Amino acid sequence: MNKTARRVYFTFMRRKLIAANWKMNTPPVGAAEFARSVTEQCADAGCDIALFPPFTLIDAVARETAGTSVTVGAQNVFYERGGAYTGEVSCHMLKSAGCSMVIVGHSERRHILGESDSDVAAKAKAVADSGMGALLCVGETERERNEGNRTDVVKRQIETALSDVPAGRITVAYEPVWAIGTGNNAETGQIESMHGEIRGFLSGIFGDASKSIRILYGGSVGASNARVIAEAEGVDGMLVGTASLEFDSFKCIIDVV
Ligand code: PEP
Repeated sequence: MNKTARRVYFTFMRRKLIAANWKMNTPPVGAAEFARSVTEQCADAGCDIALFPPFTLIDAVARETAGTSVTVGAQNVFYERGGAYTGEVSCHMLKSAGCSMVIVGHSERRHILGESDSDVAAKAKAVADSGMGALLCVGETERERNEGNRTDVVKRQIETALSDVPAGRITVAYEPVWAIGTGNNAETGQIESMHGEIRGFLSGIFGDASKSIRILYGGSVGASNARVIAEAEGVDGMLVGTASLEFDSFKCIIDVV
């Protein structure tokens, strides 16, 4: 396949998605004002936009974005439907609050809060069963990369999480752990190679249906590197942490896509 044909194959009917992961932060301008700016100033964006506020700010963001194309999502969920699970939030609760997507398996949840592959799989299934979309984060640590295990780690994370989830409910974000919040984004070659491998894993699980699954890159994306990363082969958008807290930098990223 020549370069142009490959690019057509890799971008098969997939509009790019730019997603903001605010983590446990509030944008300095406030969640509602940030969301209002997105709806007012990014209405003609050439990509889809999703905002993932902390639980307590979902309602404010959902109100501001109601009736627009901006997607509101949550950063986490518990897989049970309800009951004695102090501190947890169900898919039904998130949907009622206005969410249509949920991040599962973010590296901070895997590595700081101890989530296992099977926890992530249960969450992805619960999200899909509820009718929302799961944004599955995968990625290797620096040590795993240095030891030559990056492909095995990402393959295992994908195959475990997606064993019982339909392709139409999935977005994948490749987020090398060593690139998150460090200012040290992965290089184009590293991104293209892993996105190509992930595309292959998805094809192995879902066959042709996998072609609709977007694969985002995440890890120190900002206004200065967004264009290069967005143009990398196999990149269907970006999951943005730090740079999504300031509206101006988030808009710069949207504008280059
Ligand atoms: C993230 O946490 O998903 C992320 C990509 O963070 P940052 O952009 O700050 O690296």
